[in-house]
Amino acid sequence: MQFIEASKFYFDQAAKALSLGSRRERQLLTPMREIKVELTLPLDNGEIATFIGYRVQHDNARGPMKGGIRYNPAVDPDEVTALATLMTWKTAVVDLPYGGAKGGINCDPRQLSQDELQRLTRLWTDAMHDVIGPNLDIPAPDMGTNAQTMAWIVDQYANYKGWQPAVITGKPIELGGSLGREAATGRGCLFALEAVLEDAGRSLEGIRVAVQGFGNVGSWAARLMAERGAKVVAVSDVTGGIANPDGLDVPALIAHVAATKGVVNFPGGANASGEQVLTCDCDVLVPAAMEGVFTKVNAKDVRAKWIVEGANGPTTPEADETFRAAGVTVIPDIFANAGGVTVSYFEWVQNIQAYPWTEEHVNRELRARMRKAYADIKEQARASSARDLREAAFQLAIQRVARATKLRS
Ligand code: GLU
Repeated sequence: MQFIEASKFYFDQAAKALSLGSRRERQLLTPMREIKVELTLPLDNGEIATFIGYRVQHDNARGPMKGGIRYNPAVDPDEVTALATLMTWKTAVVDLPYGGAKGGINCDPRQLSQDELQRLTRLWTDAMHDVIGPNLDIPAPDMGTNAQTMAWIVDQYANYKGWQPAVITGKPIELGGSLGREAATGRGCLFALEAVLEDAGRSLEGIRVAVQGFGNVGSWAARLMAERGAKVVAVSDVTGGIANPDGLDVPALIAHVAATKGVVNFPGGANASGEQVLTCDCDVLVPAAMEGVFTKVNAKDVRAKWIVEGANGPTTPEADETFRAAGVTVIPDIFANAGGVTVSYFEWVQNIQAYPWTEEHVNRELRARMRKAYADIKEQARASSARDLREAAFQLAIQRVARATKLRS
């Protein structure tokens, strides 16, 4: 099942369980606004290249819309819409006063120079400045974008509306970013896993973890889990995989990736394929790359007992069936990776109050939010027919959005 169909599948299932009715279902599922713009970039070599910039604003019943901007060749209208919809449910699961949105550009950032990326980002901001804003829609980083990208956006936006750091999150600290934001999605994965393991009478100590995708989310999750006593036994990225049943030295692996641009040939492990990492002997698997990783075909070969969805949409509904039957606990994306948007919310609060928090305060608040969300998901599961954490999380989120929508209509 394609990602866009999967996101509708989970919605339909939850909407039915909540007896929303077809009119309310249609209202909740239909994006509020979809924007698609031409971005023609003058390249460094004098040529031009034309890209497409997107912003899909899905829902604002619970507050301004929130969600990242992705730079990736696979960005298309269906993907952005599905991701925007997921953001609405994600902000609702962790009970942030936001709706959901997502944006992006269908470019390969590795093929562009820093100057080209800067010009392209400013073009996107020129096209979008009227539809984003601190009380309207607040973008943030996602795959292929980072704090520097956010710095260009806040600067370009200032040309139109003056200096307003709360228009965007994930900024560099010097420009009003929050301490702890860079690590937040990985740290949120850690807190989600910690809470779920506690329920199973287990702790992170000695637990064997495999990580697919070693960008911001995967590398922070691996590092923080290792710091808490977990053994990171395998890691993969676009270049391949690396494995060591005795545990990889994660800080050394991060240094290796910084130097060589990939995990392969890391001296502290043996090279492996990406597929081998997904099916390796481990307790916890953290997919932290693209959507659609677990399918009907490979799900039965997964040996982990817990899956922490650091990425958005890594598990197809068919794979969910397989995992449920095999007793594998999937910690769903809209909860597991909500740490990023949660600390984005803290950043926005700090910007509005012009009062920065300490990193310790950020991390403490994040842990509390994640634990509260897990308690709410469990309560929803107890009170309903939900068969797994994803079904319960979707019900919880959709219920919250439906209530806000009803109250406003
Ligand atoms: N791009 C991240 C996500 O998918 C973060 C969004 C945000 O911070 O607004 O959740």
